[in-house]
Amino acid sequence: MPRNIALPHIEGLVSYEPGRPIEEVARELKLRPASIIKLASNENPLGPSPKAVAAMRRALATAHLYPDGGGFYLRQGLAKHLGVGLDNIILGSGSNELIEFLFHAFVAPGDEIVCGDRAFVVYKLCAAMFQARAVEVPFRDHTHDLDAMLAACNGRTKIVFVANPNNPTGTRVDNATLCRFLDRVPNHTIVALDEAYFEFLDNPPDTISYITAKRAPNIIVLRTFSKIVGLAGLRIGYGVTSKEMVALLNKVRQPFNVNSIAQAGALASLADRAHITRTRRLNKQGLAYLSGEFKKMKLEFIPSVGNFICVRVGDGRAVFDALQRRGVIVRPLAGYRMPEWVRVTVGTMPENRRFIRELKIVVK
Ligand SMILES: *Cc1c(COP(=O)(O)O)cnc(C)c1O
Repeated sequence: MPRNIALPHIEGLVSYEPGRPIEEVARELKLRPASIIKLASNENPLGPSPKAVAAMRRALATAHLYPDGGGFYLRQGLAKHLGVGLDNIILGSGSNELIEFLFHAFVAPGDEIVCGDRAFVVYKLCAAMFQARAVEVPFRDHTHDLDAMLAACNGRTKIVFVANPNNPTGTRVDNATLCRFLDRVPNHTIVALDEAYFEFLDNPPDTISYITAKRAPNIIVLRTFSKIVGLAGLRIGYGVTSKEMVALLNKVRQPFNVNSIAQAGALASLADRAHITRTRRLNKQGLAYLSGEFKKMKLEFIPSVGNFICVRVGDGRAVFDALQRRGVIVRPLAGYRMPEWVRVTVGTMPENRRFIRELKIVVK
């Protein structure tokens, strides 16, 4: 059996627990899939851009050919959109894959990474996979404490991760604090700025300027097509960084890591600004509604700048289970040491109202 030949530290790993798929919950609880709403993975409730869908349909006709491994057209589109060079961009099968590339390229057993204790859990899981030590710096006011994170960096720190906005808390650091941090991280440490929800921000930080001005060759900005443009099922994200870092990360990338359908969809969605505007508007409306309802219900919540929000419900696991039985999938947060909270993704307004209706029944 593979058991006794697997690496011991791999046997000890815990797998990432994703939001539960609708079909799986339907099978398990004998519910009709159409009666279930999934507000568990911060997906776009409007679906993909219709322009992306049309482009992907066209791309299907050449699905027998390997994709352009270099992702030329998409990187060209991104370069133009961001005002960076083509060789400042690397594509990943989701931005999660880029996180893994960073570990492959930089992290050896015994090295350290620094992240927040309530930051996106994938950083910590990757550290365990690579036998590195994850130094988890306590959040302050549900937010990354950048001064403490900087203080936690030492000679062994290979990567410091900042998710801004952060998942699951939905919080951001302010722009001035972020810039001060970026200017002070030592050169031997990579800063991975995870901007999966960047497009939802008002007054976003100008992190790309660190790359264009060559101010910091050790910064990589990670973004994704999974969240605002609604292509989570396609698995595509990108990193923006120095040419040197792109060249290095390309060495650990499999030749055809991003499929051709995803590349076509991503390029088309980049051009569909109207879909992005609609998504932002709907999200703001949903956040205002949910926050207002939580207030009326006297439930504590963490004001969010993402497309999801955390609410304190008592026994998070029990509320998650009860909501699920009623056909609403959210996310329990015990894994983030927030056992009293659940995270809910902002849906369409009918979905948001349904969630609140069921929540009222469940928390009573
Ligand atoms: C969703 C998410 C990602 C990445 O998702 P991909 O689908 O792999 O691009 C990365 N970071 C954070 C903080 C996220 O919430």
